[in-house]
Amino acid sequence: MWVKRELIAAALTFALCGAARAESCGPRTLGVSRTIAVGAPAHLGLKTYPQTLDLKDHEVVLTFDDGPAPTTRRVLEALEAQCARATFFLIGRNAAAMPQIVRREIADGDTVGSHSNTHSMLRSLPFDKATADIDAGAAAVDKASSGNASKFFRFPGFADSPALLAALDQRKMPVFGADLWASDWNVMTPKEELELLMGRLRRAKSGIVLLHDTKKQTAEMLPAFLAELKAEGFQLVQIVPGDAPPSQKQAPAGWKSETEATLKKMGIRGPKTASPKVGLPLQEQKDPAPRM
Ligand SMILES: [Zn+2]
Repeated sequence: MWVKRELIAAALTFALCGAARAESCGPRTLGVSRTIAVGAPAHLGLKTYPQTLDLKDHEVVLTFDDGPAPTTRRVLEALEAQCARATFFLIGRNAAAMPQIVRREIADGDTVGSHSNTHSMLRSLPFDKATADIDAGAAAVDKASSGNASKFFRFPGFADSPALLAALDQRKMPVFGADLWASDWNVMTPKEELELLMGRLRRAKSGIVLLHDTKKQTAEMLPAFLAELKAEGFQLVQIVPGDAPPSQKQAPAGWKSETEATLKKMGIRGPKTASPKVGLPLQEQKDPAPRM
């Protein structure tokens, strides 16, 4: 009977969001430890850029690309259960198709940014077409979120170019790469994905993590992942819009853009003249080309 009553109480608490949410966010939930305000110009994330957010040891930023999608609801439920918040880089046309999910992301307190309108490899497009796709994506995301979207942007496939980066700086749109990823473009079980990601996170100790809320395996993995972050003492940092570039840390000596090497391997070309790159680290060579 006691158990039943507890269950009913838990279900009621879960059903009431907003004000009730704060009451259910006890010390057992992951929560959000702090926010970092990010304004332009900023090009962040060591997979692509030689600098990233100045995160402390065991601080993690969660980002989800390519949504909204039907699987996004499960991601949002997992985040809410842990009072956790993330940033969603939405494809404009997906946001236009599923604005109700975008509105829920905003209502939950998550940060919403854009990821182009059509998910084209923008580097390969003529400059005007690429900026038109960026602008259309940002407008669609902002409309779906009733004007509550951030100006945060992530390039599809991290396929930027110097001219496009300058265009984003001019638009005061901070550009996010990532520090580590779950490789969830590869088919694997949620357990395998969890082990892969936690292994990378333990080695990196902190960073901006790239996931995809469009992937069922990621949605299924998320509750265990958030619980594991809490159990291992990781703290969640939420990125929010700001007026100035954030405090940053520089890449270690000998840094190379891993995404540049991957794009080259995929044959994605454009106006950017990449400096010569050596091969990917052995571990990453086993990772097929990302479809981000
Ligand atoms: Zn993507």
